[in-house]
Amino acid sequence: MYAVEYQKAKSAADASGLIAKSGGRALAGGQSLIGAMKLRLAQPGTLVDLAGIPELAGIRVESGTLSIGAMTRHADVAGSADVKRTIPALAALAEGIGDRQVRNMGTIGGSLANNDPAADWPAAVLALGATVITHQRRIGASDFFKGMYETALAADEIITAVSFPVPRKAAYVKFPNPASRFALVGVFVAQLADGSARVAVTGAAPSVFRAASVEAALAKAFTPDAAKAAHVDAAGLSSDLHASAAYRAHLIPVIAARAVAAA
Ligand SMILES: Cc1cc2nc3c(=O)[nH]c(=O)nc-3n(C[C@H](O)[C@H](O)[C@H](O)COP(=O)(O)OP(=O)(O)OC[C@H]3O[C@@H](n4cnc5c(N)ncnc54)[C@H](O)[C@@H]3O)c2cc1C
Repeated sequence: MYAVEYQKAKSAADASGLIAKSGGRALAGGQSLIGAMKLRLAQPGTLVDLAGIPELAGIRVESGTLSIGAMTRHADVAGSADVKRTIPALAALAEGIGDRQVRNMGTIGGSLANNDPAADWPAAVLALGATVITHQRRIGASDFFKGMYETALAADEIITAVSFPVPRKAAYVKFPNPASRFALVGVFVAQLADGSARVAVTGAAPSVFRAASVEAALAKAFTPDAAKAAHVDAAGLSSDLHASAAYRAHLIPVIAARAVAAA
């Protein structure tokens, strides 16, 4: 590591101001950022700690939506009675992230801001049509994820919470890399309150995306067989040492079918 300035913000607006002034970065649980700094993939001169900012904490259920504060740790989502009651798929997703240490430090806001191509939270946000709330504005899921490690956030914009509309049913299933537990392919399926089917895929491409062919199949029949029969084109999917694009394309309907069965 190299020497960095450490500052503790009092509010989201304060954090934004400190970042704008210093050119630094927000620090949530450090589960991605500190690793990136050790590898010199990120070299901020200042870290602005978001821990302890009251407006970034808490899980609330209010008229058809579940709101999760940006600094909520994965372990707290996994253990939340409110989450288990309203959208149990989110508790299960959080429980499947990394290992116990990562779940005890990593946050939903940090995961979304980081937008790792294999992260789990982006699939839930996109499939459920959630809203990412920052200290300045509300960003719909379809406009939030821009590409590999890229989002609609400005450099000094702080996520304060994520608001999920409660669906009729939903489930997330991932085919995990056995070492990191990151998704080789992860599929979040949802039947929304209006009856429409949404399917978001992570791990398979440079950024999370909706699987149109699986959604079309589930619009006709929300069944595992319908999902499994859908065809997903390998064009544009990722090939790496873990799996080819063709293998990932094959996995998507298979995993989607398991998710529909679980939902
Ligand atoms: C061994 C290991 C295994 C993992 N396995 C998985 C897995 O299976 N699935 C999975 O989804 N993830 C996995 N992760 C990543 C983990 O989920 C992290 O929680 C996530 O990457 C973000 O970390 P963090 O919350 O600590 O954010 P940090 O690392 O502190 O920050 C990440 C980025 O987000 C920015 N940021 C943080 N909070 C905010 C905010 N509120 N507003 C604006 N910007 C913000 C930071 O400036 C930084 O750029 C794993 C990580 C490790 C180390």
